[in-house]
Amino acid sequence: MKTEKKRYKIKEFSTFFLALPVLFCLLFCNGCSKSFQKTVTTFACDTVVTITYYDKKDEKAVNDALSYLSELELVFSRTKENSELYALNEALHKGEDFVVGKDLYQALVMSYEAAKESDGAFDFTLGNVSDLWNFTGETPHVPDAAVLAEALSHTGCEKIHLEGIFVTDAEESNPGGIVSSEDASLSVDLGGMAKGYMGQKLKEQLMEAGVTSALLNLGGNVVAIGKKPDGTKFQIGIAKPEKDSSEYVSTVGIANEAAVTSGIYQRYFEENGKWYHHILDPKTGVPVESDVASVTVIYRDSGMADILSTTMFVTGPDYAETYVKNCPQDITVIYVMKDGSLKEFSNK
Ligand code: ADP
Ligand code: MG
Repeated sequence: MKTEKKRYKIKEFSTFFLALPVLFCLLFCNGCSKSFQKTVTTFACDTVVTITYYDKKDEKAVNDALSYLSELELVFSRTKENSELYALNEALHKGEDFVVGKDLYQALVMSYEAAKESDGAFDFTLGNVSDLWNFTGETPHVPDAAVLAEALSHTGCEKIHLEGIFVTDAEESNPGGIVSSEDASLSVDLGGMAKGYMGQKLKEQLMEAGVTSALLNLGGNVVAIGKKPDGTKFQIGIAKPEKDSSEYVSTVGIANEAAVTSGIYQRYFEENGKWYHHILDPKTGVPVESDVASVTVIYRDSGMADILSTTMFVTGPDYAETYVKNCPQDITVIYVMKDGSLKEFSNK
């Protein structure tokens, strides 16, 4: 059988979709008020990262945030051989326990709880399965069914054990916890939440440094600090679910919240005329097949918003509707369906 493979580097594109409407608006406002506004751009975590700020005095804080981002990347990258997560996976593969620092531990605890709450729809142990699909590599492809089944048998959050370390001088020694697994073939992958978690940490550091108004965009994970200097919300565009489209289907205003999107147009490849995107059904190890093109979650904590966007992509709208109803915090969830229609749930 002839196999045709096409791969589109659409990650940067979708970042562009989400960032562009924001930038249009900000530039326009800036033109009106002639107030200060600056956007710094860098490439980290395999995506474009921007920070827009509105007060010249924040320049140092923003530069410090970019350094902090490099540090966090060396915690969460699954592919960089000098990262903490890489070292954790190496240790697990040798059957050893591994001590992780505060950030990795916090992220693992959040992910573990999310996995439990979603009945496994959010699964941070799919590393081996993602590797087979190789979405981030040069040659992504549909894996052999038997190989996929074997990799899938080495997944499951119940196989991971987390034990917190408590010490008195917590800030000094950066205590985290001990991670172990009974399955030496399991690989942790925090790709479903790491950018959101990092965005939240950057926001917290910037706020501690006195920044009161800024917008961070980590490859479509948008995090607002406060409001715009004119007191209005930041406007975020939600991309139209069409390849190569620069239009957006809706805009949403955020203040001091995060807006995080998971979708089929962020990272995918085509084989034999079929699209394969990078969000996997943990039950089958195959990309989720549904009517959903993307889901955007607006929530106060960016790490949680990232977890929820991936989870709600897997579960579909019914789960999201119930989640939103029962959520004690303000939350808005916007689905873009493949036919272009929208489904919105909000408890605000
Ligand atoms: P993006 O990384 O584009 O922001 P997501 O936050 O939805 O999008 O994360 C997708 C990534 O999460 C995948 O590339 C993979 O690393 C990981 N992943 C895939 N399926 C799942 C799942 N069911 N649960 C948790 N993480 C997943
Ligand atoms: Mg996510």
